[in-house]
Amino acid sequence: MNIKRIHDLYNLIKDRLPSTYPKARLAFFENEEHMLERENMKVGADESVYAIVDPDTSTISLPLKMTFEYTAKDGQIYNKVVSIDKISDEEICHTLLHESFHLLMGERYGYSSKQYSDEKGCDKFGERWVKKMKKEKLI
Ligand SMILES: [Zn+2]
Repeated sequence: MNIKRIHDLYNLIKDRLPSTYPKARLAFFENEEHMLERENMKVGADESVYAIVDPDTSTISLPLKMTFEYTAKDGQIYNKVVSIDKISDEEICHTLLHESFHLLMGERYGYSSKQYSDEKGCDKFGERWVKKMKKEKLI
């Protein structure tokens, strides 16, 4: 597993985002299941969790292996386990930016605010910054 790549990407992000933005630590888990157990989180069967942010410790947790569930043409449901190494820089950056934005919103509006839990807002923020960083050839 190339964890250094993830740290390098996160350092690029931290250097590029405004300096007032919260900075998190990264933590890695063997898989989503272990990560969720550790964070005492439960998710629906149809949900995929790529990362979790813990505002108490300012930590972004990432699974080293993710399980994707998909339905084939014949209606069968398959699980595919994908190593973090196979996930593109762009996708990793998007995830890290998404989580960073949760932290920022939490700091600004509180951790029980609707801004903090605005998944779509966090996705948009991630997309915008991935685009920006690609344009600047940072990633
Ligand atoms: Zn989120």
